[in-house]
Amino acid sequence: MQSKKRIRAIGVAVALIVATLLAGCAQTPAATAKAAFKAGTYTASAKGMGGDVAVSVTFSATDIVSVKVDQHKETPGVSDAAIKNIPSKIVQGQTLNVDVVAGASVSSRAILAAVEECVKKAGGDVPALKAKKVAAVAKAADVTETADVVIIGAGGAGLAAAVTAHQAGSSVIVLEKMPKVGGNTIISGAAYNSADPARQALSPAEAGPEATIQTLISAKPASDLHAQMQAQLKKDYEAYKASGAKGLFDSPILHALQTYEGGDRVGDLALIKNYTSRTLDGVKWLESLGMKFNDTCFTVLGALWQRSHKPVKPLGTGYIDTYTTYISANKIPVMLETTAKKVIMKNGRAVGVEAVGPTGNKITINAKKGVIIATGGFAKNIEMRQKYNKHWKTLDASIMSTNHPGATGDGIVMGEAAGADLVGMEWIQLLPMGDPQTGSLSGNIEQGVEDRIFVNKQGNRFVDEGARRDTMTNALFQQEGSTMWVVLDKHSYPTGATKNNFNETIDELVAAGRAYKADTIEALAAQIKVPAANLAKAVADFNANVDAKTKDAFGRTLYSHKIDTAPYYAGARVPTVHHTMGGVKVNTDCQVIDKSGKIIAGLYAAGEVTGGLHGSNRLGGNALADTVVNGRIAGASAAAAK
Ligand code: FAD
Repeated sequence: MQSKKRIRAIGVAVALIVATLLAGCAQTPAATAKAAFKAGTYTASAKGMGGDVAVSVTFSATDIVSVKVDQHKETPGVSDAAIKNIPSKIVQGQTLNVDVVAGASVSSRAILAAVEECVKKAGGDVPALKAKKVAAVAKAADVTETADVVIIGAGGAGLAAAVTAHQAGSSVIVLEKMPKVGGNTIISGAAYNSADPARQALSPAEAGPEATIQTLISAKPASDLHAQMQAQLKKDYEAYKASGAKGLFDSPILHALQTYEGGDRVGDLALIKNYTSRTLDGVKWLESLGMKFNDTCFTVLGALWQRSHKPVKPLGTGYIDTYTTYISANKIPVMLETTAKKVIMKNGRAVGVEAVGPTGNKITINAKKGVIIATGGFAKNIEMRQKYNKHWKTLDASIMSTNHPGATGDGIVMGEAAGADLVGMEWIQLLPMGDPQTGSLSGNIEQGVEDRIFVNKQGNRFVDEGARRDTMTNALFQQEGSTMWVVLDKHSYPTGATKNNFNETIDELVAAGRAYKADTIEALAAQIKVPAANLAKAVADFNANVDAKTKDAFGRTLYSHKIDTAPYYAGARVPTVHHTMGGVKVNTDCQVIDKSGKIIAGLYAAGEVTGGLHGSNRLGGNALADTVVNGRIAGASAAAAK
């Protein structure tokens, strides 16, 4: 096992790489067109993701002396790299020609726009500063290091694995290709599915329709394991009814059978059972590391049951902050801007990773115990989407994505090159909830499934809004312009300062023209240009079903409040590529399986890079729990390897 001293040495080596990079920037030759300024400090602001980003810039007669971001409401964790790096790059390069930070492009552009305004105020030459190229950074020396466990990808699964392997006594090095950690996990809505008796005791029993349970129990079993699980569900449900409990019924087996059937029985039932039996332990482990969740559960879109846990911190920052707090305290090296290219194989065993560092230098990390691939999915890789897609008309560039730019399927390619089998690659999940301009989930006004409806451009409902994600997206593709409106009321936003699941207040969204607000349904219809009579009827029918709590004409069964209290809100949404269910084949120990069904020694995988858990359709809220449960399993398995 690697000593603490050695881990520190690697930490220093990483710091040196970064220092060399910065020094390279600082030595950039003077401006080709030297800017001249009216010396002084100037302030300006520009629109970021969460509102105005205010900067102050100090100029001497010849130079940009400093750039400070004074105020902003960007999401912590997601925007940190932009707020830290963009100002220093402007000063170091004496330029406005600075690349935006991938994954924080809106924040980056806001800082650049505000600094540009300050340059104008100081009488500087904006076109010259925008044209000025920063000299290429000198290539740093190649790096070779060794750790017990090497992890590719610093998203949810990779960092859960890093913490777990370290807790088990292993030395760990994490490689991350982006300039920041977090991947899709940090920008996610953060909903985490788990049966949880304490929290679900606070949910009403009728939030879980009995018909769903009976259908699962009486379905024709696909295997002995399936039949055993159905018998267990029957027993658990009868015991619940006999107990007279008032809270919502749930159990790991119900969660497992919903996951299996919700993915059309394509998933691996052994993986699913193992997963749902550990999700609650995952919540408790995160809490033991300091993470906080709300006291009640909700139903995230496509979750099918009220078992989604919501972290207290915004988006996925709760997970990533929890991991990075542990990682910093224990000095686990995380090498940013380091792209893994290849798993090094020796005599059929994974023994390390070859990567390219921030300056194009070669990075070789030897693994004494194992390599964990945790690189996420491929929703941002259009070529791979097109190669594997079988079920959507097209997944070309005309369909946007909710994902961060690093979701390009690298781990699937590296895993396959190391001999891994791939499963379920054609199953690619779309959501009906994309922003019409960007495809992202930001600006999505829904809070949970129960309290909102979807209407088309005619103001008519067209689908069960509590259905599976593929069902809803297919229905949306049939509507005019593949565009719909999410309609809800004050129950979702008690005040204008109430935030959505993406850290945006409803007032901000209305002010930005991304959501509409009105005192009556008719006035809302006028704003969003749908026939008022149709929208009023859609809302009235929905409200009648909330009272009746019966299956409605579209098959909807999930209800909570009526849409009957002003202000009323609407927001437009389109289909967007969200999740890739297929990937590297693994067993319940997260060991990677080759094309002949054998374990590849020393190679593990966890998170969205793997296939087999979600089948043909992932339930909303099942992916973050996957990163935690299987990230932990991969970390523990690799740490225990001989
Ligand atoms: P990621 O978190 O994406 O991490 C993978 C990391 O690997 C990234 O940092 C990436 O840059 C890095 N990487 C990739 N290639 C390389 C390479 N070659 N070398 C080094 N590093 C590399 N799921 C839920 O369950 N609930 C939700 O509420 C929810 N909301 C979502 C909202 C959004 C907007 C999105 C995009 C997804 C959401 N999901 C949600 C899905 C869920 O967030 C993801 O499936 C999950 O976070 C994936 O975690 P991961 O660790 O597998 O991958």
